[in-house]
Amino acid sequence: MHIEFYGATSGVTGSCHILRANGQTLLLDCGLIQGRREEMENNRNPFPFAPDEISAVVLSHGHIDHSGRIPLLVKQGYAGPIYTQNATADLCEILLQDAAFLQEKDAQYENKWRKRKKKPLIDPLYTVEDASAALQNIVRLSYREKREILPGIHLRYKDAGHILGSCNVEIWLIENGIERKVVFSGDLGQYDTPILNDPAVIEHADHVIMESTYGNRRHRDRQSTIDEIGQIISDAAHQKGNLLIPAFAIGRSQEILYYLGKHYDEWNLDRWQIFLDSPMAIRASKVYWEYPHLYDEEATRLRKQVNEMPFLKNLHLTPSPKESMAINRIKSGAIIISASGMLTGGRIIHHLKHNISHSGAHIMLVGYQANGTLGRRLVDGDSAVRIHGDEYRIKAKVHTVGGLSAHADVDDLIRWAGNFKSNPHVHVVHGEAEVKQDFRNTLETRLNLQASVPEPGNIFELG
Ligand SMILES: [Zn+2]
Repeated sequence: MHIEFYGATSGVTGSCHILRANGQTLLLDCGLIQGRREEMENNRNPFPFAPDEISAVVLSHGHIDHSGRIPLLVKQGYAGPIYTQNATADLCEILLQDAAFLQEKDAQYENKWRKRKKKPLIDPLYTVEDASAALQNIVRLSYREKREILPGIHLRYKDAGHILGSCNVEIWLIENGIERKVVFSGDLGQYDTPILNDPAVIEHADHVIMESTYGNRRHRDRQSTIDEIGQIISDAAHQKGNLLIPAFAIGRSQEILYYLGKHYDEWNLDRWQIFLDSPMAIRASKVYWEYPHLYDEEATRLRKQVNEMPFLKNLHLTPSPKESMAINRIKSGAIIISASGMLTGGRIIHHLKHNISHSGAHIMLVGYQANGTLGRRLVDGDSAVRIHGDEYRIKAKVHTVGGLSAHADVDDLIRWAGNFKSNPHVHVVHGEAEVKQDFRNTLETRLNLQASVPEPGNIFELG
């Protein structure tokens, strides 16, 4: 009986761990490695295990860095069940199809220059067809439903409060009469996040595999974040510009819409036209809408007052490219929420081109902006940027709103880990190297828990 640590041990993406017990092999998450092109090439490396030796896949939530290599696993011969929570199953339909589509596009693009240089052509990592095949094998579970998924192995999901359907995973393993309980945090959300419940309270585990993305940082307090957004909207209204909000399609977009709904009168939103301009965000919003029983108390109360989407009277959903392009004619009074969140592509780029050189326009960055992205250059205060080969002076005002992260900060993580009454061993994963060490120390000093930071390929005996 043991854990093998693979992905998300040397960074925050490509989450993937293995549990072996009673002759069974369980794969926890199977995420895509994201980042720079060279790092993403690692997705093409063989898995550190044989796909057909896996007995079951257990998925914590929909994000691609946790789910994005499942189609590849299926393509390479895995034919067993993929367990996940109901809402995550629905979000995976959107996310995995989209990821496959991007893989196909990427390969097409790369093959263009390979053809010119007479280099061998490449296949996409996986295709839309592979993603569809993987989606067929998804087995849905509700939160708190305990099920024996393999002989001697029980599984139960609890709400992780990170995105809709995100899970803390509880696993009971029995081998030769010995029982061990492993809890995998998945990604943990912030406490008091809008729409979603707080991360679940779990009191018992022998071992905890725990994320540490913000394991040495504190987020800005939520009320000041909300005040900040209100101020930006008010400034943009006075300066008669548009407000652009680049946002991740799943999670962040819905959170922003929620805040716009909640503060509609206070922020005087009647004078605006609001656009959700991302086909993926529109589909994801519909999934959020269909799961009101997963909302927290406040969202449940607000949801009862409205009957159908869109619930903001001036919200326009613009799935087609034609509708999206029509937004470009609006010079002021539009709030445009569009992907991608780090301005690495997508429709937001077109809106940026039309607004970035207007002094009345405002750009509100609400998520982490990685090095090398266009979003990061805006944060860094560059005076001009190149988009699609043309140079644009930056006259729009750029704001960075830091408090909307979908990830728990160090205090949230400690609060969650502090619920355990069984003194578990914590294995710290899913963080930058320094952050993991810092968080390990914090677990030891603040909670007096034994904690370690596994390296890729490490095996930890549970017997
Ligand atoms: Zn996540």
